[in-house]
Amino acid sequence: MTLYRSFSSVQADLKTGQITCRQLVEQYLDRIQDTQHLNVFTEVYADEARQEAGRVDQKLAAGTAGRLAGMVIGIKDVLSYAHHGVRAGSRILDNFVAQFTATAVQRLLDEDVIIIGRQNCDEFAMGSSNENSAFGPVRNAADTSRVPGGSSGGSAVAVQAGLCLASIGSDTGGSVRQPAAFCGVVGLKPTYGRVSRWGLIAYASSFDCIGPIANTPDDVALLLEIMAGPDEFDSTVSSQPVSAYSQALLPERPLRIAYLRDGVESEGVDQSIREATQRTIDQLKAAGHTVEPVEISLLQYLLPTYYILTTAEASSNLSRFDGVRYGYRSLSTGTSGMDLLTLYKKSRTEGFGAEVRRRILLGTFALSASYYDAYYTKAQQVRRLIRQETERLFEQYDFLLSPATPTPAFRLGEKTEDPLQMYLTDIFTVQANVVGYPAISIPNGTDANGLPIGIQLMAPPFAEGSLVALAKNL
Ligand code: GLN
Repeated sequence: MTLYRSFSSVQADLKTGQITCRQLVEQYLDRIQDTQHLNVFTEVYADEARQEAGRVDQKLAAGTAGRLAGMVIGIKDVLSYAHHGVRAGSRILDNFVAQFTATAVQRLLDEDVIIIGRQNCDEFAMGSSNENSAFGPVRNAADTSRVPGGSSGGSAVAVQAGLCLASIGSDTGGSVRQPAAFCGVVGLKPTYGRVSRWGLIAYASSFDCIGPIANTPDDVALLLEIMAGPDEFDSTVSSQPVSAYSQALLPERPLRIAYLRDGVESEGVDQSIREATQRTIDQLKAAGHTVEPVEISLLQYLLPTYYILTTAEASSNLSRFDGVRYGYRSLSTGTSGMDLLTLYKKSRTEGFGAEVRRRILLGTFALSASYYDAYYTKAQQVRRLIRQETERLFEQYDFLLSPATPTPAFRLGEKTEDPLQMYLTDIFTVQANVVGYPAISIPNGTDANGLPIGIQLMAPPFAEGSLVALAKNL
């Protein structure tokens, strides 16, 4: 039994008849069965995946198969897939079944991808450790006492543990890149508006991006290529042409790479990560590139800006879950005698977990009449300043490099009592979301305990091809 780590190796073996899609799916199902303790999947589509595999095998034999024939993926539990449950890791969507398929997912299906199941995540994608899921935490396969990161924790561990070849997650402040870093895999957050959000359960709409997780830059590139591009159901999607990201080449000149000084000097960053980042910097310099330290003067405002704006947007987006239209309705309200407001209150209090309630309250506060200007308006202004500073930076540099996270995967329960500590784990990832730029996290060795370390590269809007090219280079 071969544990495939790249789509090209799967394709090679399919071609020679070394394996069939049916056998491939069977292998993944066995592995999923053997790793239940990791709590990666909230539902496995076993029979359906087998059937699909049979269908794709026939298409391969007939020479009519799509570009993703043989690719077995999982999808994060925030992506709609018609006639399949979708819960956003929440109790409030109990028994909810998607009525339609997310555009990004449909485009993959149209190319004959096989979806093996739905992956555990933090409730409504709010979290950095996958401990906020109504389905229980996911465990890191490198050390099961540790978190996989979040919110796409199940999606990252699925790739790490070889339970599927790739996953589709979502990234609002780091949710694809941070778990990818914690699990030693590749995670790509595209430019805001590169991939349609139609069918993605909204957390913070002006930040949310669908992004792939896989073992190689080539595989995330291929998935992005297929998902990206205009969609009549999402007017925020860009009409910029989609190129063959995995074919992109770096310019024939030394690159200009900025790196965050804090990422290699700050005491707040784990020493093993500082050293690993420094090694990459040295390697790039040795290859003849210009690599220079920079400071983001607004660094300390990144997280406050992110948390004010995303909670504000979340409080609005999540108002639709009222116990009437979707999923969970408080039973204690019964059918008689309870007024509507009580029904809403009870259903929402019982249906949402603690972190989601905290964020709805925070966001409602930030948007309330007396505080709107002090918080929401101010945060919007700071967002613009951060964007301007980032634009200026990229007038001088092709890439911004930093660690993906300040520490490797921490222990389960280590940060659950202290939201601020938890939020700080996103210090390096949120900038890309605040400004809407693409960024990729790739493995960068391990620490002394064998825990994966990630490094992040950020590029200007729509430069995903260069990101992938440099990632391959590294
Ligand atoms: N960890 C961040 C948060 O809790 C990012 C989440 C995400 O990207 N969905 O908001």
